Amino acid sequence: MQNGSFDVFALRKDFPLLLTKVYGKPLVYFDNAATSQKPRTVIERIVRYYEHENANIHRGVYHLSDLSSNAYEGSRDMVQKNINASKREEIIFVRGATEGINLVASSWGRTNLKAGDEVLISQMEHHANIVPWQLICQEKGAFLKVVPVDDSGELILEEFHKLLSEKTKFVSILYVSNSIGTINPIKTLIESAHQFNIPVLVDACQAAPHLSIDVHDLDCDFLVYSGHKIFAPTGIGVLYGKEILLNAMPPYQSGGDMINTVSFEKTTFKQAPHKFEAGTPDIAGAIGLGTAIEYINTIGKSKIHEYEQKLLNHITQKISDIDGLRIIGTAKNKIPVISFTVEGAHPMDIGTLIDFEGVAIRTGNHCTQPLLDRLGVTATCRASLAFYNTMEEIDFFADALNRVIKKIKN
Ligand code: PMP
Repeated sequence: MQNGSFDVFALRKDFPLLLTKVYGKPLVYFDNAATSQKPRTVIERIVRYYEHENANIHRGVYHLSDLSSNAYEGSRDMVQKNINASKREEIIFVRGATEGINLVASSWGRTNLKAGDEVLISQMEHHANIVPWQLICQEKGAFLKVVPVDDSGELILEEFHKLLSEKTKFVSILYVSNSIGTINPIKTLIESAHQFNIPVLVDACQAAPHLSIDVHDLDCDFLVYSGHKIFAPTGIGVLYGKEILLNAMPPYQSGGDMINTVSFEKTTFKQAPHKFEAGTPDIAGAIGLGTAIEYINTIGKSKIHEYEQKLLNHITQKISDIDGLRIIGTAKNKIPVISFTVEGAHPMDIGTLIDFEGVAIRTGNHCTQPLLDRLGVTATCRASLAFYNTMEEIDFFADALNRVIKKIKN
């Protein structure tokens, strides 16, 4: 059976793990916002790297080191093209979104923030986009300002505009919420910040698996995402930064491969991206990321988005019928991530019992404690879908959820 022109059943065959059985039942993997499964092509590329190309990069003059360096740098080109950055030098490989944000908060923040300055984030940020800014603000005597969200889980745009002022030195904001799925009007936010000449970092961790990202069109100053959420391995991620900003920033970490000359008196550094890639990087991870990007490009982000919107509508409709279930986050524009609570049933109990049905969902605060506080809950169940999930899985999930709730309440 096909779902329109999008043959999800053919695509599922590309992901070996999706054939897994849990307690004898077919796995329904609905925790894609935490991490995605990997297509065989990515897994095989990593195996090929270790079987045939493994050598350290940039330093060797021999054949294998060339192969390895070219594959690593080739992935940088793929990332550049994929997010439409003007230059390959603007792409820095990091461990993930967390490291990318820490790099900017430490390097840009430590150089540019001073007492009394303000950094603007939002109430729906992942902890990874709160804590690094909180720490650097504390260190510098700067203030963290927070754009509130409304009851539906959308940013209150008037408040965003009100909070922007000459005191605001940086805006760091997410594109898409990991816990409730809201898609923010990111381009408008960036345009408004730029009217005050404020640089903007976009946390695109949850946008990258679902939406096309065009840094030229967005005109963001920095953007981060993690490879493992876009069907690539863990341990690799991307920091995009405008070249002029990156080259004005001091190194974040230091050591080998990021220097021009070293003496005991003085060290000089390479330009970006190498200035920010100290030591041996995750070479296989970067190569796997390039392969994941190629894989997604063969499907097409617009087809993925169209299909995922159908998944979102279906799951919203299916679980809305359940007695006592409250959907947390009802923004107009969402990715297929749905958070919910059920009266009289703790999220942890739901998550534990539904696992016995073969369904993997996430329970807890999803690293967004301030957002959940704002929405009046301490924990939710979260089902987060990817393009390889099906309508049939949603139907199974809704039935399993009904069974689990009945068990808990009886
Ligand atoms: N930001 C958002 C919106 C996320 O969803 C996540 C991961 N859940 C992160 C940042 C941090 O990503 P990582 O743990 O891969 O560094």
